[in-house]
Amino acid sequence: METENSEKYKIPLPYDIVDIHTHFFPHRMFKAVWRFFEEHSWRINYKDTPEALATRLRNFGVSHFTILNYLHKPGIRDSLAEWTRDFAERTPGAIPFGSLLAGEPGNLAAAAKWFTEWGFRGLKTQPLVSRKPINDPSLYPVYELMAGQEKWFIVHAGTAPYPNEFTDLKFLEYLLKDFPGLNTILAHMGGFDFDRALQMMEEFPNLHLDTTMIFVETYVFDAAYPLPIERLLPFEDRIHFGSDYPNIPYNYSEAINGILRAGFSESFMKKLFRENTAGILN
Ligand SMILES: [Zn+2]
Repeated sequence: METENSEKYKIPLPYDIVDIHTHFFPHRMFKAVWRFFEEHSWRINYKDTPEALATRLRNFGVSHFTILNYLHKPGIRDSLAEWTRDFAERTPGAIPFGSLLAGEPGNLAAAAKWFTEWGFRGLKTQPLVSRKPINDPSLYPVYELMAGQEKWFIVHAGTAPYPNEFTDLKFLEYLLKDFPGLNTILAHMGGFDFDRALQMMEEFPNLHLDTTMIFVETYVFDAAYPLPIERLLPFEDRIHFGSDYPNIPYNYSEAINGILRAGFSESFMKKLFRENTAGILN
């Protein structure tokens, strides 16, 4: 296995992959995020400038990846979005996403500008950090806008790695009942509520899953997906490879190898690693 800082690692697949779930912050914020992680959750395998982290990812064989960040307090929405826009412009392969905090004034106007002028592909929300319900009524005009423009909403929901009062899948269910046309990606395959997440996949055709931190051997998530993988086959067009890079306590290769070990067919994996996500990120 390569060392965690190896520049030589190349993804063992005959095509470049697309990663739907990668985090990028301004370096100073990144350092604060990492400090928090290492004090409360897990050590971070990859710590470097955002530019160097993006270069390393491309060198692995990742052609496109998302810029996901999130807000932990009001008042930083616009400056963080400007950084995201500028970073995307100077970083080949980086696809920008914005983040909103429910209840902040100006959310709708900000999102409209990001989508129509700045090319943001969607929004990311992290209720573990923002501590707001995703179906807060103040965000409904934003969801309406997103559904109309075919934007993507990447949501962390479920009890993994730990729950709070805002992470229950029921909030996503309420939201999708109100906005069945909202393209949504449920991170971590809905972990640890895997069974419920698959039931929701049946009910909501615009709901997708990402594989972030699932199938990996780590103390954070259990390596073994607890359901038979056959249950995923009907959703072969709606499952996306994601990693949580760089905020992971193991090598990037493990995110790939875990899926290679799971027993999917070549064609399923090509969709998961590349085609499904290339399709939605254009
Ligand atoms: Zn994440």
